[in-house]
Amino acid sequence: MKKIIKTRRSTSIVTSVTRPSLPPIEDMYNLLESIWESKNLTNGAYYHKLFESKLADYLDVPFVSLYANATIGLIAALRATGIEGEVITTPYSFVATAHAISWNNLEPVFVDIDRNSFNINPDLIEAAITEKTSAILAVHCYGIPADVEKLESLAQKYRLRVIYDAAHAFGVKCHCGSILNHGDLSVVSFHATKVFNTFEGGAVICKDAETKSKLDSLKNFGIESETSIPGIGINGKMNEFCSALGILQLEHIDRYISQRRRIDSLYRKELAGITGIEVYVMPDVEQHNYSYFPILISGNYKISRDDLYERLLENGVHSRRYFYPLISSLKPYQNLKSVQKNLFSEAYAASEKVLCLPIYPDLDSEEVIRISNIIREFGK
Ligand SMILES: *Cc1c(COP(=O)(O)O)cnc(C)c1O
Repeated sequence: MKKIIKTRRSTSIVTSVTRPSLPPIEDMYNLLESIWESKNLTNGAYYHKLFESKLADYLDVPFVSLYANATIGLIAALRATGIEGEVITTPYSFVATAHAISWNNLEPVFVDIDRNSFNINPDLIEAAITEKTSAILAVHCYGIPADVEKLESLAQKYRLRVIYDAAHAFGVKCHCGSILNHGDLSVVSFHATKVFNTFEGGAVICKDAETKSKLDSLKNFGIESETSIPGIGINGKMNEFCSALGILQLEHIDRYISQRRRIDSLYRKELAGITGIEVYVMPDVEQHNYSYFPILISGNYKISRDDLYERLLENGVHSRRYFYPLISSLKPYQNLKSVQKNLFSEAYAASEKVLCLPIYPDLDSEEVIRISNIIREFGK
């Protein structure tokens, strides 16, 4: 096949925090041919339906509604609950979490995290509940399960909805099965930077057919039938290309995750015993996805977190300060009531100390060792 457009390749040797995994391109050609023949490119066609059902099986969840990305999925998930007022959430996340709340004209109310999980601290939630509180939007940060039992018992007590931003949690299983089965709704991301990617994409997981059809309609302009559009929707549909790619990716995801596990253990071995470097110990879960490799740089380390970030960059390693700065300190959020009243000291401390190191399935062992050696050397 003649290549019409060649992609420009970057010449730098930067190892990024993540790199997408892709199936063999030949496998995609076959699916593309069938899309070309059918001329069905979107609107919930063959691959969209097939991917939804395969995904529900793989994730072991009752209902899946595919979305163009997780941000629109979050916006629609909040909308589907019909809530108003205030939504309790974490400042320690990617900005899309709070944006999805604000985009719905709801007010985010930030609550500090638990230092042991990087997730919202349920013990601080009660103090943040007001008459206007309608939901909790929690995040499974780095794929670490939020304290679902405590969150859900609070929700029951105060009649709140619980929605999980599960963008990091694809494939994570707690002792009671998929983490995605918790709460009213969970939203996963298939963005290129995530464990499981469809270039761009996402999905909302729900528990009943009625909510599923609401989510399906919301992503399709609110259309119910050719002549009936009872509510306001958006265009959030996943197209056939991304859906077909997702079906192929499912065949490889277990291998991707086990390759990540290998890198995770190698880092743990190589980084052991460096003064001032704390390698976060993941809680004991049934299945982790090794989506991120966060380390915490304390005052005992020879140089600051930001200096280490720069030294790594000079050595061709692009680590990331996930999550710095805190969402609560960003311009759209810094004047909110909950932000004026609180310091979020745990979230702040984490955001000042954390560095996520490169982790992706085809990252070489030699590179993991080289990165670890750089960290050891600058700590001397
Ligand atoms: C990536 C991410 C999102 C947004 O996902 P998209 O699919 O890129 O829209 C939302 N929340 C968190 C925590 C994320 O990391």
